[in-house]
Amino acid sequence: MSIIAQDWIAHHARISPAQEAIHDLASGRRFTFAEFDIRVTRLALYLQSLGVGESDRVAVLSHNDSDVFEIQFACARLGAIFLPLNWRLAVAELEYISKDATPKVMLYGVEFAEDALKVVQLAGIEHSVDLANGGESAYEAGIASATGDLPQRTNLMSDIWTVMYTSGTTGRPKGAKITYAMCVFNAVHCSIAVELIQSSKNIVFLPTFHTGGLNVYANPTFHTGGTNVVMRVFDPDEFCALLSDKELHITHALGVPTNFLMLAETEGFKDADFSNIVCLGIGGAAAPLALIEQFGAKGLKLQQGWGMTETGPLGLILSADKALEKVGSSGLPPLYTELRIVDDDGNDVRQGETGELLIRGPNVTPGYWNREALNTEIFTEDGFFHTGDAARQDVDGYYFIVDRYKDMFISGGENVYPVEIENVIYELDGVLENAVVGIPHDKWGEVGRAYVVLKEGANLDEGAIIEHCDAQLAGFKVPKEVRLMDELPHNATGKVLKHELPRE
Ligand code: ADP
Repeated sequence: MSIIAQDWIAHHARISPAQEAIHDLASGRRFTFAEFDIRVTRLALYLQSLGVGESDRVAVLSHNDSDVFEIQFACARLGAIFLPLNWRLAVAELEYISKDATPKVMLYGVEFAEDALKVVQLAGIEHSVDLANGGESAYEAGIASATGDLPQRTNLMSDIWTVMYTSGTTGRPKGAKITYAMCVFNAVHCSIAVELIQSSKNIVFLPTFHTGGLNVYANPTFHTGGTNVVMRVFDPDEFCALLSDKELHITHALGVPTNFLMLAETEGFKDADFSNIVCLGIGGAAAPLALIEQFGAKGLKLQQGWGMTETGPLGLILSADKALEKVGSSGLPPLYTELRIVDDDGNDVRQGETGELLIRGPNVTPGYWNREALNTEIFTEDGFFHTGDAARQDVDGYYFIVDRYKDMFISGGENVYPVEIENVIYELDGVLENAVVGIPHDKWGEVGRAYVVLKEGANLDEGAIIEHCDAQLAGFKVPKEVRLMDELPHNATGKVLKHELPRE
């Protein structure tokens, strides 16, 4: 059965046109569903006039902005594919992604003009359009002058709405295909799990180029007909003030552990009244237990969730009433999601034992853009997706994410795959061998440390290695420390034994 993916914004514009859809804090712009619907239509007409049509990719390099959501919904109206880009990446990384996804147009925030235009040129992107957070720009001019009617189009649930790049174990980013079905089921799951209703107000501060910023709980809030409040970039003091602002009345937010660690450090936190909050979600990385308990003492139940770009993302969520009782757990799977925990041979482990978490359901990606060979490897024969995360269940069936099989660490909510950094360090002539690992860090959770063995007579020091990484990689991937070593520990087949590297 082919189910049609309905247009959420058009639907709510018909049913509750005067309801506020979006509030962009930086510019002060507030649009009702009726107004937002008109802007989305006009933007779709403008993109169509640039030649954007079915399946064309539309790249966006922007801080959080109500414009980014307009672009996402305008893509749906054209059957085009939304391609949000991570503004923390270096030009070389953006070039790689753009050559892989070949967008027809690049929309960019004016503060990223220099890098964006370099990428446009390097990747041969046909059109570029600047955005200025509501100010004078090609974007606003395009919306203002758009005319005509959009042809009626229907997207199917199985169609691709978004391609979102994640770094990978292969050392190069890969674009997860995100279908309408994934977004719809993720919205249904979030609504049930965290009580999203039309009067809900979600604040978005995680970057919308990540699934957390886009899909928890921003898109589910649009799906429900609630309001999204958009924070351009995260600022802990402002976040504290906004969360406790009784007039604004925020009810929902998702953050990574670093956001909440920073919130707890703000001056306002101790005396702030957060009584309007319905749900504070925490995910993207393991949450420190002390943090959940600290918030609990203030009457705030941080609900831990687990998910991936490839899983919608919601794959596990802890209900508010269990937030303290089951502290450390990421909860239970949502309604339409099946999970298994398996051993190396793919057999289910006994309850309580640790194994790899597998996931299946309509919220799971069909695969990666342009990676057909990989797309068969990531699934079991019966369609379960390999997460690369290690999990166990307690006696009540609650899931705990305990480790990772994939070589990855998480710095301030950003995933870092060491192989990508190791490859960049290998570009330096004097490097014989190197290995990168994540080491614990109070603020960022983990940061990178590189262990480097130099070739004889090489003229390299720690500073030069960091400088080289800095020129090639996003800041969060650049190792904070380099240790020069005489040799690295190896196993019999020559693989570096990372757990034997000195961690102090
Ligand atoms: P997200 O936005 O959820 O971080 P990504 O695709 O960037 O999505 O990263 C997914 C990975 O993040 C997971 O495979 C897992 O390793 C890690 N992760 C997410 N949530 C948790 C959690 N609650 N506990 C531990 N690790 C987590």
